[in-house]
Amino acid sequence: MKIKLLSLLSLVVFHQAYAQSDKFYATTDSKNAEALKNKFPEDVEIITSNDNSSAVHLSKKAAEFLHHNVITHGPGYVYKSSQEEAVSAINKSRRENKILAFTIDQDAVVMSAIAKVSAENIKTHIQTLENYGTRHHTTAKAKTAIQDLRTKWQALITASGRTDVSVRIVNHMGTTMPSLILTINGSTSPNEYVIVGGHMDTITNNVNNAPGADDDASGIATISEMIRVLLDINYRPSKTVEFMAYAAEEIGLVGSSEIAQDYALNNKNVVSVVQFDMTNYKGSSKDVYLTTDPYNSNDLNLFLIELMERYNKTGAHAFTYGNTICNYGCSDHFSWADNGYDAAFPFEASFSQYNPNIHTTSDKLSNMGNSATHAAKFAKLGLEFIIETSKGSVLGVSDASKSSVHIAVKDKFLNYQFGNEAVESLIILDTSGRKLSESKNLLSIGKIDLNPLSAGFYLAVINTQSGKVITKKFILE
Ligand SMILES: [Zn+2]
Repeated sequence: MKIKLLSLLSLVVFHQAYAQSDKFYATTDSKNAEALKNKFPEDVEIITSNDNSSAVHLSKKAAEFLHHNVITHGPGYVYKSSQEEAVSAINKSRRENKILAFTIDQDAVVMSAIAKVSAENIKTHIQTLENYGTRHHTTAKAKTAIQDLRTKWQALITASGRTDVSVRIVNHMGTTMPSLILTINGSTSPNEYVIVGGHMDTITNNVNNAPGADDDASGIATISEMIRVLLDINYRPSKTVEFMAYAAEEIGLVGSSEIAQDYALNNKNVVSVVQFDMTNYKGSSKDVYLTTDPYNSNDLNLFLIELMERYNKTGAHAFTYGNTICNYGCSDHFSWADNGYDAAFPFEASFSQYNPNIHTTSDKLSNMGNSATHAAKFAKLGLEFIIETSKGSVLGVSDASKSSVHIAVKDKFLNYQFGNEAVESLIILDTSGRKLSESKNLLSIGKIDLNPLSAGFYLAVINTQSGKVITKKFILE
């Protein structure tokens, strides 16, 4: 009897302790926090809120509900290790949007790189990752997958004979799963970083069966192909380029937020970050969908549009783009944006049309309906981004693609001068790629009235009669 009572008591105590530790701190969208609190009053405590986000203490049950019911790709919240950390995260002042001083002038290097992208390589790699069966962050297989990726990336480095490229494992506090980072040291500006990433972990309601072929084996395979191509053409960047395979994205961006925070604390100058999370399911009419949530960098999105206008408009590497939203804590780029860095996230489809099999045991290559040709477009965009932002050199390839086109914005007019270029059309796009105006039959000097446009970032796209595309960003005050 005594024993029985004791064990019953200890069971109650244990249950309470478990219920206590079951709750954790996080940040999320304020509207989500309110809705969640209404649905699970016992499970959610809103600690404090600012205009759009809240620091919360919530149970795993409430978090899971959020994960499955918010229209977002990611968890819908960002895990924080303490109340203090959650509160300070939402009180952080947002960095002002600045104009990124990126230019596009590496045509020869870019063309030689994107011509080498192999959809077959990406497909094979997706299958390899799917074959682990699970990469859930708590499993031994997730760790093995990171170690095997290290071996794969190290083999590419070894084969290249390069001593300026290295790969390292990063261990975390919030998960037993490590992340992986490959670094190509910048030759002249090593303290400036260009970063691309994806996440290695997977999730379903069965930790032992979470194949995650699209989410996010596709992203890891896509960035691995970028690495292979850059080493194959012996690309030597001026800035440091890093590739990251993050741990535990699915449970609140754990790996990426620890890394981004570490970079921010060490004042690392990260010039831009692009995330590749789901690249291989073509669910919409267009190909690449830029996410335009408020935490994303308008300027970086515009630069990605500029790259696609330049390199992917016609010919063998042509594809189309659109825009979509992804909501709070959507993927690992949020971790970087949250620390004040410019981040963007080109996605496989419009958000209402993405791969319906993700987060299920059916997220397999065989259910994607193609052979990684969709992912190949993202590998090309990634290479264009890396090469134009890190501005490197390749022996034997030089660039002389200077244009004689000049544009300048003054008093709400776009002044242009085409020099000796015969111009077919001048198009103005906004940050979501929407065409706002198109002017044809232009003289070689003139101006376009911008008064109908509101203040913001824009892109002028000039198509010459010889088939060249010249792009220029401008800001309207
Ligand atoms: Zn994902």
